[in-house]
Order: sequence, then C-alpha cells, then structure tokens
Amino acid sequence: MNIHEYQAKELLAKFGVPVPAGFAALSVEEAVEAAKKLPGPLYVVKAQIHAGGRGKGKFKELGPDAKGGVRLAKTLDDVRAAAAEMLGNTLVTIQTGEHGKQVNRLYVTDGVDIAKEFYLALLVNRASGQIGMVVSTEGGMDIETVAHDTPEKITTIDIDPATGFMPHHGRAVAAALGLEGDLAKQASSTASKLYDAFLGTDAEQIEINPLAVTDDGKLMVLDAKVGFDGNAMFRHKDLMELRDETEEDPAELEASKYDLAYIKLDGDIGCMVNGAGLAMATMDIIKLNGMFPANFLDVGGGASKEKVTAAFKIILADPNVKGILVNIFGGIMKCDIIADGIVAAAKEVNLSVPLVVRLEGTNVQQGKDILANSGLPIVAANDLGDAAQKIVAEVKKAA
Ligand code: ADP
Ligand code: MG
Repeated sequence: MNIHEYQAKELLAKFGVPVPAGFAALSVEEAVEAAKKLPGPLYVVKAQIHAGGRGKGKFKELGPDAKGGVRLAKTLDDVRAAAAEMLGNTLVTIQTGEHGKQVNRLYVTDGVDIAKEFYLALLVNRASGQIGMVVSTEGGMDIETVAHDTPEKITTIDIDPATGFMPHHGRAVAAALGLEGDLAKQASSTASKLYDAFLGTDAEQIEINPLAVTDDGKLMVLDAKVGFDGNAMFRHKDLMELRDETEEDPAELEASKYDLAYIKLDGDIGCMVNGAGLAMATMDIIKLNGMFPANFLDVGGGASKEKVTAAFKIILADPNVKGILVNIFGGIMKCDIIADGIVAAAKEVNLSVPLVVRLEGTNVQQGKDILANSGLPIVAANDLGDAAQKIVAEVKKAA
C-alpha cells in the first residue's frame, strides 16, 4: 500500500525526521490558506499523486511549455495561479504511464534553498536478508540512470534487524555522502530515525529523493515515497486510514474486495486461473502461442461461484479483452462445482467474447458434461497447450 508525499512526511516527522512545514490542500483557496500559515518568502506547490517524477512531468491539458507538478512560488498570487493550473488536470510522469494521473490534491510546503541533493532509500534486501540502506551523492535525478551509468556512486549499507541500527551504520552513511562535522551527525541521526520509521510501520520501501543540504547547513527530507507491506496492514489500523483508493486501479480495487489477486496487463486474452503458479504458466503459454494476456488473475484455491462471477465481470469490464481462457485445477474445489459456477457466471454477465475452458482434477468428466450441456458457446480444452491454441484461434476467428 502506497501513500502520498504529504502523508509520508507527516509520518516521518513523528519519528523525528526533519521535513519542511507544509499543508495538504484540496482547492485553490485551501492552497492559498496553507501558504498563509507558512513563513515564506518561498513556497512550493506540489501535486499529490502516487507517482514520482512530478517535477519533470507534463500536464496533458497545458501543452509542452507549461511547468510540471512541482512549482516554486514567491507570492500568494503565484501559489493561487500554480494551484489553479494543477488541480483537476492530468499529470504525466515517467512513472504514471501515458494516461497520467488526475491531480486532486496539492501539498503547499516551505521552499528551501538547496545546496546539495542526495538520495537515501530503505528497502528489504532479500539477497542478504537484512534491511538495505541505499545512499548516493547523486540525488534529485533518476536513480536508475545513476545505477546504470555510474554504479560506483551508489552505496548499499546492510543493517541486521536482529541488532538494529548501530553508530557505525550512521558513520557509513555520512562517509558515503562525503559529509563531515555537524552535517555528518545530522546524516547519522536522520538515517537512524528513518530506520526506526521503516521497522515501526512495516514499510516495504522508504525513498528520500532528494535528501537536501540547505544553504544554512541543515539536512532535510524534501521528497518522500513510502510503501507498506500489505500483509502487515492488519496491525496498522491508523496507517490503513491513509489509503487513497482513488489512486488505485479501479479493477484491482474491485478484485481486492473479493480477495482475488488481479493485475491488469496490456494484452487481449483475459485469464481466469486458480493458483498463482498455474496463472503464470497460463500467461506464458498464451505468449508462446503468439498473443498476450490481458491480466493476471488468481481466483484462489476455493473458487466459489460468487468469486468466479466477480472475476468474469472484472475481466469483461476491460475493453481490451477479446477472449477468455479459464484454466482451473479442481483440487480443493471439484470440477463440477466450478463448471456450475462458470455457467452461472457466463449467463449472468452476458458473455460477448469467445470462452475456452480447461478443467482438470476431481470430477473432471461431470464438469465437462455440465459445460457441454449448458447451451453456451463454451469451447472445452483438454490440456494447457490445447487451451492456449484454441483461445488464440477463436479470437482470430472472431476478429
Ligand atoms: P518528484 O521526485 O516527484 O519530481 P520532488 O519532491 O523530488 O518531486 O521535487 C522535485 C524537485 O523540486 C526536487 O528535486 C527539488 O529540487 C525541488 N523541491 C522539492 N521540494 C522542495 C522544497 N520544499 N524546497 C525547494 N525545492 C524543492
Ligand atoms: Mg523526488
């Protein structure tokens, strides 16, 4: 689960991490009121979307010469103008995809005079089984480019969660950033607090870019991206309230209500499968036959009729879907029960595209009989290869 920058900063501030003052705003008036509460003379008006690259982003409605989603403002009128231009418009950044994201929320924050921009991120380093702190002197820009072109400028410091953040970790961070004296102390202290925040919130990722040194020698977090481990959210009810469902893909949100693991993809063949491994194999074999999956969808071991119906509706709501491949192994659920579910669901949703079903497992013959006698144009398949070939052929025939 991801949160907005302003929420991330409010959260990090509770752990003692230094962030500039700021307020969220949902309207132009609120943005101006927010600026009035700040000392000035420099304000920054920032689009709040769940994607980075806002500074270099472009608004669809404003043309190529307009400024991006992070704007400096020197007067309250500048704040008003920036807010009016951004709210309601669609910001396209390297992380949003070409469709972009509508800006419905702003963050008005203190403008800081920046002397230097660093990068600092925390994540779970699965290779070492520890918490990885990734630091670089090359902040402010796209870290992937730094990693690709000048990997020596990135340092990873592993922290063993069993013993926690030690003074030597702090010294290593300061050294990697080339800091001495008071700034080295600030870097060490900020890194330690970020580590506390990472563990304390069951975060999956905390990315600070930039971590800035100001002209008057202060280290400050100017941008923060925080994502939490979804499986740990049950023990963070307060963090759950930070969820902004409007930032999530509507189909994925709907799927999560039925406990379906659904991820939208770019292809034409909708897939409904039970079990993540079988779903991956199904996607692979569709590709092998020359087409692409429109989604990953795991209905889970105990796929009920309700779940199957919900899954059909979600798949069919995607205008790219030209055919559906159902690939179910009847282990926990028996094939005849699944077949009943498929028939009921297909009738309820008014199936408009070819449907190929491959069933295997307990009571498979009863299941096949139910599909054959349903009166629906369901194409039965015998195995995975047969199923993929048939759905590709059916879609091409229908085109
Ligand atoms: P994004 O990463 O989405 O582009 P950032 O919050 O990192 O958004 O902002 C982009 C750039 O804008 C930063 O690298 C920094 O140079 C500048 N910036 C951001 N916040 C402030 C601030 N409070 N004061 C001064 N400059 C800022
Ligand atoms: Mg940034």
